[in-house]
Amino acid sequence: MEFDLIDRIRRHTDVHRDDVLTGIGDDAAVVAVPTGRELAIAVDTLVEGVHFPVGTAPADIGWKALAVNLSDLAAMGATPAWALLALTLPTPDEAFVDGLARGFAELATPFRLALIGGDTTRGPLTVTVAVHGFTAPDGALLRSGARPGDVVMVTGTLGDAAAGLRCLAEADASPYAALVDRLNRPTPRVAAGQALRGVATACIDISDGLVADLGHICAESGVGADIDAAMLPRSAAMLAHFHDADALQFALGGGDDYELCFTVPADRAGDVAADLARLGCGAARIGRVVEGSGVRVTDTSGESVMLARTGWNHFAA
Ligand code: ADP
Ligand code: MG
Repeated sequence: MEFDLIDRIRRHTDVHRDDVLTGIGDDAAVVAVPTGRELAIAVDTLVEGVHFPVGTAPADIGWKALAVNLSDLAAMGATPAWALLALTLPTPDEAFVDGLARGFAELATPFRLALIGGDTTRGPLTVTVAVHGFTAPDGALLRSGARPGDVVMVTGTLGDAAAGLRCLAEADASPYAALVDRLNRPTPRVAAGQALRGVATACIDISDGLVADLGHICAESGVGADIDAAMLPRSAAMLAHFHDADALQFALGGGDDYELCFTVPADRAGDVAADLARLGCGAARIGRVVEGSGVRVTDTSGESVMLARTGWNHFAA
C-alpha cells in the first residue's frame, strides 16, 4: 500500500537532473554537489489545522509545503536543486496523495527541482519538505548584514494571506478568491532572492509577519528599523475588502505572505527595484535601518502604530 503511494508521488514529480545519481527507491538518495558551490538546506513542516486550514485542497497543501521551503532558499539567494518529502497521513488515501503530488510538482517543475526521496507514515496529517539549493562560496544572503542608513524593502504586497485566512471564515469566500489564493498558493521569490545576491546586506522571508521577521534581521544585525506605515505595499484586493486599519494590521503582523524583506545600501535601492521589476516582482521601500534595536512603525502624522499582534506563535495558547 505504502509503496503504491510512493509510486504515485514519483509519477507526478518527474524532474530529471544529471546531479541526481540515485533518487527515490533506494535507502538514501545520492547526489553530486557541483564543484565550487555551497549547499543551502532548509526544512519546514506543515501540520493540518496549524499551518493550513482543515479542508484545504490536497494540491494546495502540496504546493504550499514546497513553497514555504523554496521561500527559505529564496531568502538565502540560493538556487533550488533537490527536495525530500515526508508525508504523515491518517489513511492511505490515493486521491489525496495524487492531488498533493500534483500541487507539489506544479511548483517544482518550473524550478527543475527534483524530488529525491522522503518518508511515508501513518498519523495526523502532516507534510514535511526539506530542500537543498546551491549558493556561490560565501554568497548566501544572511540576516546579519544590515547597517544603519540602509533602506528596508519588501517584494510584492503584504497582508494578503492573513486577509485570505480571515475571509475563509465567511460563509461564501468566493468573492475573496484572490486573497485566499495568496494564502494557499504563495509565490516563493526565488528569482528575486538570486538577484539580491551581492547587493542586499540582509534578507529574510516573511512567514510570521513583517514586524516579527524584520525584527529577526534587526536582532541578528544589531540594528533597529523605522518603518513608514504609509509605504507598505498593499494589494487592491485586500483594500477592496478591508478597512484601512485592518489592512494595516494584516500587512504588519499577518503571516504566510512569503515575500522577501531585505536591506540595501541607500544608493542601490533604485537599481534593485528596477532589477526586480524586470523579473516581474514589485519591490517597495518601506523604511530605513537605524542605530539601536527593534522595529518601530509610524504613520503619516509621526505617531507610533501599535501592533494587534506581532506574528504567529504556534506554541501560544
Ligand atoms: P526505508 O524503510 O528504507 O526508509 P521507505 O519505504 O521509507 O524506505 O522508502 C522507500 C523509498 O521511497 C526511499 O527511496 C524513500 O526516499 C522514498 N520515499 C518514501 N516516501 C516518500 C515520499 N513521500 N516522497 C518521496 N519519496 C519517498
Ligand atoms: Mg522510510
